[in-house]
Amino acid sequence: MQRTENGYGPACLRNAGAPGGPVLVSWNVTLRCPLKCAHCYADAGEHEADGVLSTAEAFSVIDQLASTGKPIVVLSGGEPLMRDDIFEIARYGTERGLVMAMGTSGYLLDEATAERLAAAGVRSVAVSLDSADPDTHDAFRGVPGVWERAVAAIKHCRDAGLGVRINMTVMRPVLADVEEVIALGESLGVRDYQVFFPVETGRGREPGQGNPREYEDLIRAVLLRYRESGLRIRPTCAPQFRRIADEAGIKNPGWSRGCMAAISYCRIYATGEVTPCPYLPVSAGNLRTTPFSEIWNNSELFLALRDPDRLTGKCGRCGYKGACGGCRARACRGADTVPARWCDGLMRPDDPCGEVTREDPWCPYEPGGIDRADLAILDALQDDLPLVSRPWAAIAARVGLADDEVVARMRRLQTSSVLRNVSPVFESRRFGLAAATLIALRVPEDRVREVAEIVSTYPEVSHNFRRDHAYTLWFTLAAPTEERLSAVLAEILSRTGIPEADALDLSTVRAYKIDVRFPLSEEDSYGSD
Ligand code: SF4
Ligand code: SF4
Repeated sequence: MQRTENGYGPACLRNAGAPGGPVLVSWNVTLRCPLKCAHCYADAGEHEADGVLSTAEAFSVIDQLASTGKPIVVLSGGEPLMRDDIFEIARYGTERGLVMAMGTSGYLLDEATAERLAAAGVRSVAVSLDSADPDTHDAFRGVPGVWERAVAAIKHCRDAGLGVRINMTVMRPVLADVEEVIALGESLGVRDYQVFFPVETGRGREPGQGNPREYEDLIRAVLLRYRESGLRIRPTCAPQFRRIADEAGIKNPGWSRGCMAAISYCRIYATGEVTPCPYLPVSAGNLRTTPFSEIWNNSELFLALRDPDRLTGKCGRCGYKGACGGCRARACRGADTVPARWCDGLMRPDDPCGEVTREDPWCPYEPGGIDRADLAILDALQDDLPLVSRPWAAIAARVGLADDEVVARMRRLQTSSVLRNVSPVFESRRFGLAAATLIALRVPEDRVREVAEIVSTYPEVSHNFRRDHAYTLWFTLAAPTEERLSAVLAEILSRTGIPEADALDLSTVRAYKIDVRFPLSEEDSYGSD
């Protein structure tokens, strides 16, 4: 199987919304779990879900998935290893040609288990590791000793020849937390990382610290880390990463749409309900009564999520709605209809299609607008364009952004007519060019190009331009002395054969520089009320 930045998966992950079947399915095979994670979207624990699918029904689910294609099926929970038949389910999926994977806390994953998973054809295991600090991880997961077992599980999976990925849920918008987990993972030989951004669901309704702007900065920092590291690092459930990557000039043709829910991804709940994603527990149908292909291809909910033109609010106006799409779960949360425990029972909004297509309230981007970083760049450009070999790098350093991002933002500002052009102003006297003049020549139409080419051969000419005027060709001349200026002009007239009577010499007698600056990025410049 071809590996992509998604950790496990074929390059077709990027084929948004293709009918036929999903590329990735997350399957909560059980709600039982030995941990008590603060953020658990499934609100899992000691008790099994009422009506959990039996082994025979699980096989039927696999048959239904196999009839739509060969998706990657991630067995998750709860803790998938709490199911006694998990190896049978994995093996059955492998035999039916599905790409079987697992998402686990690692708490129950010892050496023998890793070997049994490999023998069942499981290709890859994602182990949750939220912090490089054992106490922090254990406190987040609600049980002591989880960190140690997670690290051991990574080693067991690696030794059993399984692909390993680390799933990290960020608890606060601090890059160092992510860096430390990646450093730990690298020391264990892991090259795949999925960095999950918090969504308020299940027990995660008390989200981590920080506001959307701070998380936006963290997404950018994670993307820059991805670009520099050569590791597979993907911000997850932060669909804005596609916009932020675009602004920063970071590309990856293997990336799918920012939010994959119902596009190339869905979740199967323990009882067979199919929802667009685990954090969006709106059921589109139950596999006990409706075939998977019918739900995937024809459910009104899935069709609504697949159509970017149905997005409303700022997501609907946004040029990134195709690439990003906004988090539909957060959009729904904004509708204020979410029950306290989303996944312990499914959400049944009155107007599911209307509510899931609202704007993502977590995105600070204003489509068509300019943000604080744009204003800082515009401010920096007003000061001066540094006379260095890489002026954008100098501007980037001044405003604290990456070079590529500055260039991408300037392009966007230009496209949206905020920035018309950036042109250098040469103060010729500072270069020792004390004499300057503007020359206008009356040149016959059919000779303008030829004469302009001669004029441009002189280093004393900074630029020339054509005008719809009796005097058709204009250019500026600057030289250290008036004598040199006159000599150059005389030579140009002689070489071009333009008579002196057809030349206007509009000498600069006195120069004024009017320096008008508008401090754009300072709060005070807008007034406070
Ligand atoms: S709806 Fe939100 S949480 Fe669900 S897949 Fe999309 S981005 Fe992730
Ligand atoms: S406004 Fe919506 S579509 Fe645009 S970047 Fe933000 S979340 Fe994505």
